[in-house]
Amino acid sequence: MNGETDWSRLDWKKELANNVVTIDQLKEYASFGPDEEMALREVAHVHPVNVPRYYLSLIDRTNPDDPIRRMCFPSAEELVVAGAMGETTADPYGDDKHDKGNGVLHKYDYTALLVVTECCAMYCRHCFRRRMVGKPDGHPPRDFAGALRYIAAHPEINNVILSGGDPLMLSTAALRTMLTGLAAIEHVDFVRIGSRTPVTYPLRLFDDGLIDLLREFGERKALYIATHFNHVREITPTATEAIRRLRLCGATVNNQAVLLRGVNDTAEDIVALMNGLLGIGVNPYYLYQCMPVSRVRHHFQIPLKQGVDIVDAARARLNGYGKRFKYIIGHDVGKLEICGMVGDNIVLKQLHARSGHDDQASRIIMQQLDDNAGWVTL
Ligand code: SF4
Repeated sequence: MNGETDWSRLDWKKELANNVVTIDQLKEYASFGPDEEMALREVAHVHPVNVPRYYLSLIDRTNPDDPIRRMCFPSAEELVVAGAMGETTADPYGDDKHDKGNGVLHKYDYTALLVVTECCAMYCRHCFRRRMVGKPDGHPPRDFAGALRYIAAHPEINNVILSGGDPLMLSTAALRTMLTGLAAIEHVDFVRIGSRTPVTYPLRLFDDGLIDLLREFGERKALYIATHFNHVREITPTATEAIRRLRLCGATVNNQAVLLRGVNDTAEDIVALMNGLLGIGVNPYYLYQCMPVSRVRHHFQIPLKQGVDIVDAARARLNGYGKRFKYIIGHDVGKLEICGMVGDNIVLKQLHARSGHDDQASRIIMQQLDDNAGWVTL
């Protein structure tokens, strides 16, 4: 596929069938030695390969360390379940503990997160939900009407996140059912849709039916899109146009990036990313510390001290809007903002406490860190 393709004109459902999903297909885009190829076949059994041709078109094929390639190509390093950065878990964010059934995760009193699909346009190699993404057989079928009943019965929920997987991989008709149901619940003030399609599969946003649906919903409730750009080279003309279409239908678009070794682990990378986002009307929101996810942490996580240095150096070069993002640990106890280092101590502020743990809300935490520590134990 070449840079001449007008991705916006392709049928998003048909083009999905052209995704690269096998190691043999990937060999058209890179060469692997026999040992590496054998390892990659093993990796693909654990976490499936799935890369749109659009995203493959962004790769620098001459660079085996290309950051875009690193996010979508399987790597032999995924055979390392834990490794040098420490212990790992399949569920670092404690999703399963807060599962209320029918895909409802109720971690904070005011927010319900709905896991509405296990599918994504691309299976990112750093995904923190890789235990379920791309594996639809591993979960019981969900009853969205049951999820709506749960939300309707909890008036403390003032906002709902549609998540997954990638909700925008659902048909527009299925999304219409969901958004119509949510719009009818009076105490739901706003809805967030977490989607990486503007980055990995922007052609989804050229479906006029979807844009019409989002615009109609936006006339009833506020709509926010949480997207996930990690590198400035993901901000292409096609992605830019996709974002413009989202904004024209009234959605506010915020970005949640992840700090990843070999992808965006320099101050220059972060400055370019945040400025690039502002240039297309996307608000820098979170920069997550890579979680201790099995088969991810070892090769993607960087030490927290290094992360603080990168963020501090980047912020020094960013204007007020660019530096609005928070450097975040998505911890089992809730969200923690990484404020900085005082000597060998990391300073954290808890932004959100789990339901029933109000005493932890807004607390300041200081913890001594080794140079190589990539996570905190609380
Ligand atoms: S799009 Fe999001 S949920 Fe899907 S694989 Fe990538 S990071 Fe995971």
